[in-house]
Amino acid sequence: MAKDSTLVHSTLVTYASMLSLLISCPPFVILLWYTMVHADGSVLHTWNYLYQNGLKGFLDIWPKPTANSCKILACYAIFEAALQLLLPGKRVEGPISPAGNRPVYKANGVLAYAVTLATYISLWWFGIFNPAIVYDHLGEIFSTLIFGSFIFCIFLYIKGHVAPSSSDSGSSGNIIIDFYWGMELYPRIGKHFDIKVFTNCRFGMMSWAVLAVTYCIKQYEEYGRVADSMLVNTVLMLVYVTKFFWWEAGYWNTMDIAHDRAGFYICWGCLVWVPSVYTSPGMYLVKHPVDLGLQLALSILIAGILCIYINYDCDRQRQEFRRTNGKCTVWGKAPSKIVASYKTESGETKTSLLLTSGWWGLARHFHYVPEISAAFFWTVPALSNHVLPYFYVVFLTILLFDRAKRDDDRCRSKYGKFWKLYCEKVPYRIIPGIY
Ligand code: NDP
Repeated sequence: MAKDSTLVHSTLVTYASMLSLLISCPPFVILLWYTMVHADGSVLHTWNYLYQNGLKGFLDIWPKPTANSCKILACYAIFEAALQLLLPGKRVEGPISPAGNRPVYKANGVLAYAVTLATYISLWWFGIFNPAIVYDHLGEIFSTLIFGSFIFCIFLYIKGHVAPSSSDSGSSGNIIIDFYWGMELYPRIGKHFDIKVFTNCRFGMMSWAVLAVTYCIKQYEEYGRVADSMLVNTVLMLVYVTKFFWWEAGYWNTMDIAHDRAGFYICWGCLVWVPSVYTSPGMYLVKHPVDLGLQLALSILIAGILCIYINYDCDRQRQEFRRTNGKCTVWGKAPSKIVASYKTESGETKTSLLLTSGWWGLARHFHYVPEISAAFFWTVPALSNHVLPYFYVVFLTILLFDRAKRDDDRCRSKYGKFWKLYCEKVPYRIIPGIY
């Protein structure tokens, strides 16, 4: 009886947290944009406005989707989908799914990234399209994304029920859970158009780079110069996104793709949260051209690039170790490892290797430390006049600490005693010696 009531309680808490995220994320995106663009980055300013004007005031500042914002987004989405489908790329196999399938991808991310940025900058350079227009219509664009992506998630939910692309699909029997966490692991349109590659990589991550460039150009158009703070922010974000596309085939082995199903959590997050929240330090800097001076600007830039490199090297080390079946060197030595066996959903026994040296011997999710630090370094050029530019770093820290726990729980149930052994060998979850 006691166990049942605990279960009911935790289920209610899960529903409540899912519903509160569903309801609170869209208004938050609009308030973030409003504060950055129209309230001088001041939370207090926005708070006072809402306090005086209430719900009506909030609805007044929520921009409606317009023909312009729909056109901009449709052009961008069609362009990215076309690049995903048409550009050449090596055939890459993803990890074996829980149902025993192995998805196949075309690795053309670097090319798509280069073509996107070259096209965007050329459109501006030759006077065909001014990216400052994107900044000027940002509120309408985010509003269109909020509603459009919600409709897209409904489409994913219906597709999961009536036309799943593979046996890696299923319903939990609960409509909210199915909508929020998704039903299909690898939804596709036809045989070749992978929806999660589109939402997560080619739309979401690509928009991060496109908006970083947009903010830089807008500042240039507004002030006739680009401040060193904006340059540091943009260069670090572009290095980070370049690293992402360089390593995109590796990303297809991570939790986002291999474990999280295509639902509101991951797809809406990549379609709306990434373009709005992840780019927000740059959005703030547009109207705050802080001058750091050469020495400080260079120090922040170097520290940020170092963090991005370490984060990349952690991911590379794990993937190289798995790809070579442990027959590689880690920090100049043969890697230490655990051979972990597990059972698939169909009852087959398989083995995986767990690396216990190098970065993966420092802590079980050490790679999140340089990830969070890099985000700090591309935000710190905003200095400390306002807290809101730091929202992304705080959000990322909470997200990654939660993710480390979710991943540990998943690996514990997958590998059982082998995961326990890994935890004994590498006792810290994220920060060596502390947590
Ligand atoms: P990863 O998928 O890279 O790593 C977790 C998985 O790796 C586990 O599920 C397990 O999968 C396997 N694994 C765990 N321990 C070991 C080990 N010791 N040796 C070998 N394999 C192991 O994690 P993430 O997807 O969280 O991170 C990938 C990258 O994305 C990171 O750089 C991270 O910082 C970044 N990221 C960025 C976010 C952002 O919003 N900016 C959000 C999330 C991630 P298996 O079942 O195969 O054993």
